[in-house]
Amino acid sequence: MSGAAGLKRAVCERCLRAQSACICRWITPVQAQAHLLILQHPLEVGNAKNSARLLHLCVNGSVMATGEAFDTGVLDSLLHADGRTPVLLYPATLDDAGLPAPPPMPALPAEALRLVLLDATWRKSRKMLYLNAALQLLPRLGLTDVAPSNYRIRKAHAPHQLSSLEAAAQALGQLEGAPGRFSPLLDAFDGFVAQQAAFVRARAAGSCADNASQSDEQGVNRLMGR
Ligand SMILES: [Zn+2]
Repeated sequence: MSGAAGLKRAVCERCLRAQSACICRWITPVQAQAHLLILQHPLEVGNAKNSARLLHLCVNGSVMATGEAFDTGVLDSLLHADGRTPVLLYPATLDDAGLPAPPPMPALPAEALRLVLLDATWRKSRKMLYLNAALQLLPRLGLTDVAPSNYRIRKAHAPHQLSSLEAAAQALGQLEGAPGRFSPLLDAFDGFVAQQAAFVRARAAGSCADNASQSDEQGVNRLMGR
């Protein structure tokens, strides 16, 4: 590997991305009344389009943990740290025949709550819910008045399917009774999305002359028997 390629792979310690793709300039610190706990599915860890780490870096005091089936004791302490009451950001779907009915949302101020966010595809978030009994027993917070998503990278399956960052911004505002309070998070997200889109375009434009891409192409041709 050449020196240049080695440099390109240097990793930013804060956002854990390659220095060339560092997203730290979009970090916009916000203080939320509710505590934020992000449970990230392992498949999202290396996903360049994922917004959860930016969210984590923006929201002061937030905690992010990675896993699919969490250790019961670890999850319990994550959920109940500081005596806060955890609520799960998840729709109260009617087709959960195999799951217990979630308890109603507690009448508590945002300062007493912990917002628990599952950072995963819809399918994997359901799997996390099924695999972690403690999550099934949490009151669920559904989003109201959701603005159409401006998430331009990952194709949404429904108009109101939001990225983790957008969903958390909406939910934190909802819990505080101040829907627009976390709009700086959405501005940060817009910048992040624009950077990702530019990155993808630059890679596509540069791929013809790129030796590495040619090797990839040859690999594909081999797989296809050419
Ligand atoms: Zn960075």
